[in-house]
Amino acid sequence: MDRSKLYRRFRTLLIANRGEIACRVIRTARAMGLRTVAVYSEADRDAMHVALADEAVLLGPARARDSYLNIERLIEAARKTGAEAVHPGYGFLSENAEFARACYDAGLVFVGPTAGMMTAMGSKSGSKELMEKAGVPLVPGYHGEAQDDATLSKAADKIGFPVLVKASAGGGGRGMRIVRSADELAPAIVSAKREAKAAFGDDRMLIEKYVDNPRHIEVQIIGDSHGNLLSLFERECTLQRRHQKVIEEAPSPTLNAAQRETVCAAARKAAGAVNYVGAGTIEFVSDGKDVFFIEMNTRLQVEHPVTELITGIDLVEWQLRVAFGEALPLKQDEIRLNGHAIEARVYAENPTKNFMPSVGRISTWRLPAETGGLRIDAGYREGDTVSPYYDAMLAKVIAWAPTRDVAIERLNRGLEETDVRGIVTNIPFLSALITHPKVRANAIDTGFIERELAVLTAAAPAPGELELCAAVAAIVNVERQTAQAEANSPWQTFGWQPVGRRQRSFAFRVGHGPEQKITLNYGSGPSTLVIGERELAFTIAAKDGGFDLTLDGVKSSVAAVIDGHELYLRTRNGRFDLHWVDPFGGESEEHVGEDKIAAPLPGTVVAVLAEEGTKLEKGAPILTLEVMKMEQTLRAPYAGVLKSIKCKVGDIVQEGVELALVEPSGE
Ligand code: ADP
Repeated sequence: MDRSKLYRRFRTLLIANRGEIACRVIRTARAMGLRTVAVYSEADRDAMHVALADEAVLLGPARARDSYLNIERLIEAARKTGAEAVHPGYGFLSENAEFARACYDAGLVFVGPTAGMMTAMGSKSGSKELMEKAGVPLVPGYHGEAQDDATLSKAADKIGFPVLVKASAGGGGRGMRIVRSADELAPAIVSAKREAKAAFGDDRMLIEKYVDNPRHIEVQIIGDSHGNLLSLFERECTLQRRHQKVIEEAPSPTLNAAQRETVCAAARKAAGAVNYVGAGTIEFVSDGKDVFFIEMNTRLQVEHPVTELITGIDLVEWQLRVAFGEALPLKQDEIRLNGHAIEARVYAENPTKNFMPSVGRISTWRLPAETGGLRIDAGYREGDTVSPYYDAMLAKVIAWAPTRDVAIERLNRGLEETDVRGIVTNIPFLSALITHPKVRANAIDTGFIERELAVLTAAAPAPGELELCAAVAAIVNVERQTAQAEANSPWQTFGWQPVGRRQRSFAFRVGHGPEQKITLNYGSGPSTLVIGERELAFTIAAKDGGFDLTLDGVKSSVAAVIDGHELYLRTRNGRFDLHWVDPFGGESEEHVGEDKIAAPLPGTVVAVLAEEGTKLEKGAPILTLEVMKMEQTLRAPYAGVLKSIKCKVGDIVQEGVELALVEPSGE
């Protein structure tokens, strides 16, 4: 292949990916003065990466096979927009040699290694053979061509159980089985082959010694087309679930300086074996003493930001410069390790329901500011929809600090300040994970999350006095803001505190737990909140994202989001999801049965649904009120006749005002 055709200067870059990595690449490309072209599927028309790019091309239907994995469409998109180069991101076609070759054939620069390097390193078996020759330490194992049962079983016996059966073409932990004894081997191979065939169209297997309770350590490397190859220190990615990384950090807190140099040298040797060009990662497992090569990833990884934060290098910039045909700007001894960085992957998934992906519209998206050592790589915004078609990773929260302990604290703070609503996320799980004493102490292995799952997904603490008060304050705060926003509203005259002493009762519940009641007393004097026998004076001062709540003289910051009847609060005691029990009785039998049809909250009558004189069943709708932009329907408390309606559409009614009268039918 002609080197000047492979790597040369270009001005327009197509990003063959979506989500956070597409956004991440666009950011750097733009900073380097490049024109950017996004591609998207029908499900991603309004996605963030499409909005960020200078141009965007529709590839096809939502299914990845019809869009992000469609090589022809991608090449066509580059042609249409005059793109001269393609960045594949990670996942999708990033390690697909056929795609790299198709780009080359179409005269496009592929930002990554050549198809030949990918083929050599892409297969776990092939790369192990190469590493063996280069003298890189391997996990004891079998990675030969012969795939018959007898050969595989003999190999497993020789290695000694437990062994790991792995798809040679594998990725994402698929096609992998732990086998603890000889009689488990045959069925494990059958099922691993089936999975590998379906996922990768290739069912060749290799067998490795299963390192018990291992750590995952990997080295970032990058090479240019002039023969320079650098290692950029290592990352520890031991916190995994089902062989998928959850938290990554750099440098590894497990290695000392001498071990660091050993593993980095092994990685350079590994990449040097194919004269590697581009960014890549050499992955190792470690038994705590030695490290063993497991595979190479010939692309940028999800966790590359932790390396960027400790080295000060923008890896995407370096990838692009290598693709321009430039030489790497630094020498190995000029690469410095500064401080510690740690990353958490924020997923739309429910850890308490076996990490089931959560899809839907993101109604609230609040991420902390990128200050004080925090970095956010996001692929979504408020109002975006998380579709079921792609990986459910929403964003990465990354923290840097001079020391590991402080980096963990910063990351935790960053996660605590992250409020995403409308879909379920793993944020509370991530907080529990990184603050676990064993994680702080680095007393972990790749099985840690699975073993500690009960602790990591434990239910949030029950709301206490502070949270109940904060819940009422959140509602009052929003009502107050709504009132202020609406000019000429009667709120202007009455304010939110009508004259005279008044009361409002609230009930909240967590999940299906018991209702907790709290009463707000307000009027001429200072307002108070009453829980059982306790009466507490309170004030609120609104601020961005919530308010300061002063309760019996103690001020405390509360973050609050109200989404219909769901209240999300963050207080000094943690995160709380409260359900505001419908004050209109729509969901609680208790309320149906009270005989007065009155406005339980101040609001506007938006619909009258029944006519005077008609017969009503119990629960029949009578009228609809709008309160805090939410519609609530008032229903007949019992069967009877609608005697009178005492309001009309458009009326603004105060709390407690009787709106209709139903005469019971006398059963
Ligand atoms: P994939 O390409 O599917 O991600 P890898 O070979 O990278 O597969 O392995 C993924 C994870 O599986 C590793 O990070 C490690 O946790 C575990 N693993 C892989 N090989 C071994 C081994 N020989 N012993 C123990 N654990 C292993």
